[in-house]
Amino acid sequence: MRHTLSHLVGVRDLPSSMVWQLYELADRFYDVLRQPTRKAPALTGSSVALLFFESSTRTKLSFELAAKRLGADVVQFSASGSSLDKGETLLDTALNILAMGVDALVVRHRGVGTAHFLARHLPVPVVNAGDGTHEHPTQALLDTYTLFKHFGYVEGLTLTIIGDLFHSRVALSHLLLAPKLGIKLRLCAPPTLIPPLWYGLGWPIYTDVASAVSGAHAVLVLRMQKERQDWAPIASWQEYARFYQLRPAHLREGQVLMHPGPINWGVELDPSLQYWPHTRILDQVTYGVAIRMAVLYMLLRG
Ligand code: ASP
Repeated sequence: MRHTLSHLVGVRDLPSSMVWQLYELADRFYDVLRQPTRKAPALTGSSVALLFFESSTRTKLSFELAAKRLGADVVQFSASGSSLDKGETLLDTALNILAMGVDALVVRHRGVGTAHFLARHLPVPVVNAGDGTHEHPTQALLDTYTLFKHFGYVEGLTLTIIGDLFHSRVALSHLLLAPKLGIKLRLCAPPTLIPPLWYGLGWPIYTDVASAVSGAHAVLVLRMQKERQDWAPIASWQEYARFYQLRPAHLREGQVLMHPGPINWGVELDPSLQYWPHTRILDQVTYGVAIRMAVLYMLLRG
């Protein structure tokens, strides 16, 4: 059964059939990206606005590239220096941007629920590029797509997620996506960085990196979200690194290493892991463009 997508605000409402449709589209766009012209002008005449209220490198640039590779025009909104300084509301700002002839909004904001709010009130597709500690749907989609490209399947794979589970929107999106794809999760973090409700979800929870990683097909390491920790969940960065850093000795031949970036080398990852032969960290970024092309295409032409 084919579904249509009107917004992508979270993984929660995404049926697994639609994830597979997105993978199929991403395969087609990934092939396009490997052609000399790298263009599939399917969105010529459309305009996409990027509203990033939080820092971003990979997500912002890959949405921009995705839209441009599809032939759409892209406008970037920068909060500093905008009329938000004069008291304009987010909704008014968005409505004014739409009034200029914009067909889709990609939004990142520290406020949990911002993308849902805009999706409820705007007549165009809204894509959540990260809302605070809540969800980051395209990151989880591109991570699982990376696994799919590497292994050729995802069902039955065991994925260990290590790091700041409490503040990571990437972790929450994976928690919601894994059951739809038959991926088995293992979660590993200091006890203070494990949301209490997660103990009841049925996924094994570890406080020991070696056991969490042993036998897993892939490991997704998360950054410590320093900017979101207004209480002190760990005694010190040195101690976190000592007990929770992933090191080459934890990994066995064939285990895939992923990280959504940005990486704090020496904190969550031993710097020598940049030479791990099965790292897929830059592949995640490459596949991210294809996944975001698929999302924009499905929203605007699907
Ligand atoms: N880039 C990802 C995010 O925006 C992960 C991170 O920042 O650690 O959530």
